[in-house]
Amino acid sequence: MTDVTKNLELIRQQIRALERQYSRAEQSVQLLAVSKKQSMEKIRAAVAAGQRDFGENYVQEALEKIAALSDLECQWHFIGPIQSNKTKAIAEHFDWVESVDREKIARRLSEQRPDSLPPLNVCVQVNLSAEASKSGTTLKDSIALCQTVADLPGLQLRGLMAIPAPLSGLEEQRNSFRPLAEAYRELQSRLPGIDTLSMGMSGDFAAAIAEGSTIVRLGTALFGSRD
Ligand SMILES: *Cc1c(COP(=O)(O)O)cnc(C)c1O
Repeated sequence: MTDVTKNLELIRQQIRALERQYSRAEQSVQLLAVSKKQSMEKIRAAVAAGQRDFGENYVQEALEKIAALSDLECQWHFIGPIQSNKTKAIAEHFDWVESVDREKIARRLSEQRPDSLPPLNVCVQVNLSAEASKSGTTLKDSIALCQTVADLPGLQLRGLMAIPAPLSGLEEQRNSFRPLAEAYRELQSRLPGIDTLSMGMSGDFAAAIAEGSTIVRLGTALFGSRD
């Protein structure tokens, strides 16, 4: 067994155990394998062990991987900051975009999504800590942006994503995720088809699952440190 195979098995067990611990429905939390800066071999090992969803942050690196691994049944999620000159490549090659943070980007992705493909699954990225360095809309503006995404023909609004500032204690981490979980429930009450709350990374996924996450995005915990 490779390390990736072993790690994947362990992470799956941890996720199932956390679902039980926090009274979440079985299989309600999906694993997104964050493969940025990881080798093709590791990605292939994860696919061979049954992993299907992969997250990438850098368009050029992702396009090379998507092409080289086109023999595999993967779903590719774009999770990085989006420059407007990259929307076409993203719209043409990804299944999901979890980092939509402004209307202009949403409109371009919708216009550039090829008719031959199903609508692009979208999460609106929220900046929870209001750090200038991080992308994401404010919590206050997120509902309006979601409404815009929901109305665009090339996009399918699925929910919200966030990357909170790193914190160490479980309670602190839970507190930082809670406002996003509240916004998610509010969104679900207003719009149909909302089923995705993407929060939790290698250092805080237990807290995220406790607060209702439906996708945890794990990179280093699964693949080891990045190149
Ligand atoms: C890199 C990255 C991750 C994975 O981070 P790890 O700490 O390696 O698990 C998750 N989400 C986003 C948006 C990222 O950029």
